[in-house]
Amino acid sequence: LKTSFAVFLPVCLAAGAVAYSCASPRDNVLAIVHATVIDMTGGPPLADRTVLVRGQRISVIGPSASVAAPRGTPTVDASGRFLIPGLVDTHVHLTAAGEPDGSRRFLLPLLVANGITGVRDMGGYLESLAPLREEIRQGKRLGPAMLYAGPFLDGAPPSFEPSQVVRNGAQASEEVLRLVANGVDFIKVQSRLTREAYFGVADAARRERIPFVGHVPDGVTAAEAADAGQHSIEHLTNVLRGCSGDEPRLLREQSYVPREKDAAALAHARIVRWQRRLLDSYSQSAAEGLLAKFLERNVWQTPTLVLLASDAFPTLENTDRNDPRLGYIPGALRAIWTRARVEQMRFVGESESRMRAELYARSAALVGEMQKAGVKILAGTDSPAPYVFAGFALHDELRRLVEAGLTPAEALATATRNPAEFLGNAKDSGTVSEGKFADLVLLDGNPLEDIRNTGRIRAVVVRGKLLDRAALDGLLDQEREFASR
Ligand SMILES: [Zn+2]
Repeated sequence: LKTSFAVFLPVCLAAGAVAYSCASPRDNVLAIVHATVIDMTGGPPLADRTVLVRGQRISVIGPSASVAAPRGTPTVDASGRFLIPGLVDTHVHLTAAGEPDGSRRFLLPLLVANGITGVRDMGGYLESLAPLREEIRQGKRLGPAMLYAGPFLDGAPPSFEPSQVVRNGAQASEEVLRLVANGVDFIKVQSRLTREAYFGVADAARRERIPFVGHVPDGVTAAEAADAGQHSIEHLTNVLRGCSGDEPRLLREQSYVPREKDAAALAHARIVRWQRRLLDSYSQSAAEGLLAKFLERNVWQTPTLVLLASDAFPTLENTDRNDPRLGYIPGALRAIWTRARVEQMRFVGESESRMRAELYARSAALVGEMQKAGVKILAGTDSPAPYVFAGFALHDELRRLVEAGLTPAEALATATRNPAEFLGNAKDSGTVSEGKFADLVLLDGNPLEDIRNTGRIRAVVVRGKLLDRAALDGLLDQEREFASR
């Protein structure tokens, strides 16, 4: 993890993109004056502050009355505005929308325009991610700092591309070693790994001292995953099952393979019955036991509530298909989303729709309980999964975390200080502090009063480079034009 946020070269847009001045790194200075700084160190907001940026880093923070910017410094008047750390989306798939344009022309502009200055890529093509990270580091392309897993490790047949199939302990060692040699930052495990393969990956990751994160496979319990050292659990995979008073039965039924291929309707009915039992067997004491286990083992959670609502548990009331942000989604991807939604809603009537709403509500309530129990939470979206609108979706996630019971400050931490701590770069990122990277978002409203104010973005600073509202709108316009082709 330590090498990934190494010193970057200056950030400036590739020729032909939005025009703004791109001074040499030594010349790059910026003053943000009269800002209310929400620095995310845990203290109260700091009123009327001046933040000086030199090169890629914050050089000085102090009262505007006493800190003066050197003559000629480009200055942003932030009176009445709120400065927060750059946001991190800890669950994205940058190479999931057709390379090389999917990452560069679709996802990166939407992320930057939404104030996202860091991402954890949770599964993608190394041959594309490695050069992309290099382009961003060298300042050839504007984008967030990246950490990545590379290909998923999964069972056969794997759920997604690109995956490496792992069947046993020997293959687990081999694949983990290969990924480490290829420079990944962590290992991503997926749902179809057998128990043997999963625990093989856990052992290999421990030997290689590389974190492993991802889904809790269907054959493994969330408590076992915690004991095996899994560092983060995504989408609450098999976490609700771990809160059941009847987990062994649910696990058995989940791995039941019908002798003949069931008719689709029968298979669907079996899933619905299983989900009903999952909800009905929820046990408060089992839930408390599991959360205590997460706390004890330092297992972090990336609930991706926005994905649960849009892709896992969509209801009849869901209005994603009329979302005006569909204009930012390239046609080919939109077609995949439409097909996914049709498939998701097949056989779904009123009662199943209500049950899905219950599944979502139960999941969200559990996230609120996690926060109260001290289990650490990360904001992630799974962009560009169906109806997860890259960039915008992180703000949706923060709102959902507040609805789940987090305070706005706690929600904001899941996208700033928490990911910095989790990813091992708290020294350089995660708070607005002198000496840290100048990754900043300037807001028109106070996010601590209303978390939706994180979406009211006046300016974004990426590694010291200022993008004002006009530049951000330029990025969005270009992206929308790309999407409409
Ligand atoms: Zn994902």
